[in-house]
Amino acid sequence: MTTDSIFGHQQIQSQLYNAIETGRIAGAYLFVGMEGLGKEKVALDFAQSINCLDYQHNAPSSQEKRGACQQCLSCKKTIAGNHPDFAITRPDGSNIKIDQIRSIQSQIVFRPLEGKRKVYLLTEVEKMNLEAANCLLKTLEEPPAESTLILVANNMDALLPTIRSRCQILSFQPMEVRDLAKILVNQFDLDLGKAMVVSARTQGAIGKAFSICQTEEAIEVDQVPEILTTLDRLSAFRIAEYISETPEMLDQLLTWYRDLLLIHQQVNPQLLTHQQNFSQLKKIVRNYSRIQLQKAIEIILETKNRINRNVNTNLAIEVMVFNILPRPNVTNNP
Ligand SMILES: [Zn+2]
Repeated sequence: MTTDSIFGHQQIQSQLYNAIETGRIAGAYLFVGMEGLGKEKVALDFAQSINCLDYQHNAPSSQEKRGACQQCLSCKKTIAGNHPDFAITRPDGSNIKIDQIRSIQSQIVFRPLEGKRKVYLLTEVEKMNLEAANCLLKTLEEPPAESTLILVANNMDALLPTIRSRCQILSFQPMEVRDLAKILVNQFDLDLGKAMVVSARTQGAIGKAFSICQTEEAIEVDQVPEILTTLDRLSAFRIAEYISETPEMLDQLLTWYRDLLLIHQQVNPQLLTHQQNFSQLKKIVRNYSRIQLQKAIEIILETKNRINRNVNTNLAIEVMVFNILPRPNVTNNP
């Protein structure tokens, strides 16, 4: 594993480098954002940079990379996982347990052995059980000098407010689908069409996109979802059932309906997320009016909100499908 290429989080990284360079590293950070954005990669880079023996300062005149040198003994040990002042804690099974927190606490009180600070990275902290969270709180309330905790979470809502309030919070955002696609083109020698497919499929989450590009030999062009192609309202229940199994599909559906709307507005096909499906979408768009497409997008967004508010998922999706399937006899394009 290397941390030498991190994309899309420059602002967060420079904030962290500034903290190192001004000697104002916080006792606790909370990195938050959806899964697959590269939060852990940034956290590792930060841990490395804190204890790097040859930290590269910001040199505006040069193109040299700022941050950890990647070469020194400390950098190598951090990445290899055998630096005495750095440890990663991951959920043990489905939870981070109190014993794991106690083990950090028994270590963190000692001064660093080789580095400048003791750094503890905890991943998926939303999986801390209440007991463990309360235990961790003690450390957050009185963080030992020369120590830094980096908590990484996919979902901040699941954390105790008392934990959140004691951390410096850095919020990670997905990239624009097009920007990510361009990176994939450069990194993996993909053509832009395929890169857009991966980028759209992962909703701009760079970590997920990279692992798809690294593991899948052939990236298949996405199939147009059935909900767009069917005119048979009797298929609604089956489609709803299918979508209910993976509600994340709603984000995907949005990209398809947005494309239809763009085609309706006759924009340049290059701007479409699913440009490889252009000719098929051009036929499909005839079944919809502009207003219906706008409505479909609103309905999907509303359905996402309802599901987030714990409304019955199956029911919400059933209602959604019935409301966005094109009605018979609508072939006009106002
Ligand atoms: Zn180094």
